[in-house]
Amino acid sequence: MAVPKKKVSPSRRGMRRSHEALSAQAYCECGNCGELKRPHHICASCGHYDGREVAPAGKALKAAVRV
Ligand SMILES: [Zn+2]
Repeated sequence: MAVPKKKVSPSRRGMRRSHEALSAQAYCECGNCGELKRPHHICASCGHYDGREVAPAGKALKAAVRV
């Protein structure tokens, strides 16, 4: 098993963790129903994408992701 040669100092640990912050999820309004949805995703409430209905409204959209 690979073993670290030296203990990581608090400074180095902090430098590594400086890239680990989570950013806020992006949301935009659905052009059809006005609900908030993720950009480039099907609207979860009305099933529209790019101005047309691609999935039944209100259904779980896991199976309809690839359109
Ligand atoms: Zn919508």
